Amino acid sequence: KEINVINSKTKELVELDKRHFIHPTSAPKAAAEDGPSIIFSEGNGIYVNNMDGESYIDGMSMLWNVNIGHGQKELAEAANEQMTKIAYSSAFKGFSNEPAIKLAEKLASLAPGDLNAVFFTSGGSESNDTAFKLSRFYWKLKGKAEKKKIIGMQSGYHGVTQAAQSATGIPATHEFAGSSVEGFYHATPHLTNCELGDKNDPNYENSIRALIEKEGADTVAAVIIEPVQGAGGVNMPPEGYLEAVRKLCDEFNILFIADEVICGFGRTGKMFGIENWNVQPDFMSIAKGITSGYSQLGGVMLSDEIRDTIVNYDGVMAHGFTYSGHPTACAVALKNIEIIERDGLVENTKEMEKEMQKGLAYLEEKHDIVRNCRTLGLLAAFEVYNPETGEHLDPSLQAAATIVDECFDRKLILRHIGDFRVAIAPPLVISKQEIEKMIQIIDESITAFKNTL
Ligand code: PLP
Repeated sequence: KEINVINSKTKELVELDKRHFIHPTSAPKAAAEDGPSIIFSEGNGIYVNNMDGESYIDGMSMLWNVNIGHGQKELAEAANEQMTKIAYSSAFKGFSNEPAIKLAEKLASLAPGDLNAVFFTSGGSESNDTAFKLSRFYWKLKGKAEKKKIIGMQSGYHGVTQAAQSATGIPATHEFAGSSVEGFYHATPHLTNCELGDKNDPNYENSIRALIEKEGADTVAAVIIEPVQGAGGVNMPPEGYLEAVRKLCDEFNILFIADEVICGFGRTGKMFGIENWNVQPDFMSIAKGITSGYSQLGGVMLSDEIRDTIVNYDGVMAHGFTYSGHPTACAVALKNIEIIERDGLVENTKEMEKEMQKGLAYLEEKHDIVRNCRTLGLLAAFEVYNPETGEHLDPSLQAAATIVDECFDRKLILRHIGDFRVAIAPPLVISKQEIEKMIQIIDESITAFKNTL
């Protein structure tokens, strides 16, 4: 999509961007030749503006993170107040700060079960790398240093640092620079019966259980799982699956890491995604919605057993980021969580889930190419199929990308995942009327795509 160049300032920025800005998770050639399709300047609620003041609906909360919506001045004030007090304070070796302490306590009060302690990071990838290291450290302290391997899921997404990328089950991330590290394995997700021990299931050898049996439970540290897979396709776990994995982990003495980087902080209609099921994780990775994107922050929450084991260690735990427990980021997170609770945004998300379901059902009924609609809270997707064959539409049609482009032309930002999936994840402040508006634009965009066939 070429930018709609109106004013000369935008034009100048596009040229500078093309020359100097290497964009994350983007096609470098297209970025250098075509430049950005939009330069954002400001936002309010579910809306974001480009440099020319044109307004778009942010139907993805940017990168599934702006949970409380744009333009929440209270967060800017919280940052300003904290930053004015002190630039930054280290949390290494005996140093601490008030916002980080208060946030740690707040998170402990919100997190399910006995996840009562937190290690702070600056984002999701760092959180997952930390969870892997802490799980290995835990087993070492327990006298089981051989327990090092990590099992992730195919289509699972855990970030792009070397370990997080290695845990990610999306082949493109492994192919990039050939930088995967050893000790990471991937199972097919959602094989409930296999995880419960059904060896007659034809998929058995792709299950977590089969991997554990093959590698030996005494070499496996942890399983990492997103309650709902996000970037891999908004894939909902079938009933009983997460419980089956928890049971399996207990059976083999393996830690359960819930990656809540997308699901956390209200996205699924509960404060944390895992709370939709009867499952207690040993670790929980958090980021994104913890500050709604207003500041960079992540963390890993630890169960009492893990925390108590670690705090018995008398040496130095040689793992920490300069910005672990950054006071400004923590002050922003505290205000963000206060707003989520004060404004009932988890409850609103549960309410709006019904509107999203209604809207998706309408699209499915009206358009024979739309199927497989799903939403949990405001984490939603639909897929495009060939109605005659019942298979996904031919990848050469680039159906999902085209529908997303058509939406963009109509001032709605969505994201396609692969050739046939479209994800929808608006800010949790969205209203019924705003969801209806989004559905109307998607409806028109699907019609426009069908007209090209
Ligand atoms: N885990 C999940 C489930 C994610 O969706 C993401 C990012 O999209 C990450 C981890 C990585 O987070 P970050 O990009 O903040 O490093």
